[in-house]
Amino acid sequence: MQDCIFCKIASKEIPAEVVYEDDYVMAFEDIHPAAPIHLVLIPKRHIPTFFDIKDEDEAALGRLQQAAARVAAKLGLEEKGFRLVSNCKEDAGQLVFHLHYHLLGGRPFQWPPG
Ligand code: IMP
Repeated sequence: MQDCIFCKIASKEIPAEVVYEDDYVMAFEDIHPAAPIHLVLIPKRHIPTFFDIKDEDEAALGRLQQAAARVAAKLGLEEKGFRLVSNCKEDAGQLVFHLHYHLLGGRPFQWPPG
C-alpha cells in the first residue's frame, strides 16, 4: 500500500534494522524502543488490522509466530522469555495500520498493561 510505512520497510523503500526476513514476514527494530529488545514483526502483505485478515494470510500469520520464537531465541530470550503484543485499533493505541506484533524483551513487564 502506497502510504504505509511498514509496506515501505517491507519493500526496502525506507531503511530499517532488519533482524529477520523471509518470503512472508519481516522483523525489524522499533525506532522508539520500549524495552532493551523491541522488535516489530509484520506480514509483508498489507493487512490493516486483525479484522482484515483473509484465508490467504494464514501462512504468513503462522510464520509470524514461528519467526517471533526464532528471533527471540537468537537474541538470547529463551530462558527469561518475552512479550508479544499487538495493538488493534483505537482503544489499543494502534498507530500504524499495517498489522504487526511488538516483540519486547530484556526486562520484566507488568500485567495487566495500562
Ligand atoms: P502501534 O501501531 O501503536 O502498535 O505501534 C507502531 C510502532 O511502530 C511504534 O512502536 C513505533 O515506534 C514503530 N514505528 C513507526 N515507524 C517506524 C519505523 O519507520 N521503523 C521502525 N519502527 C517504527
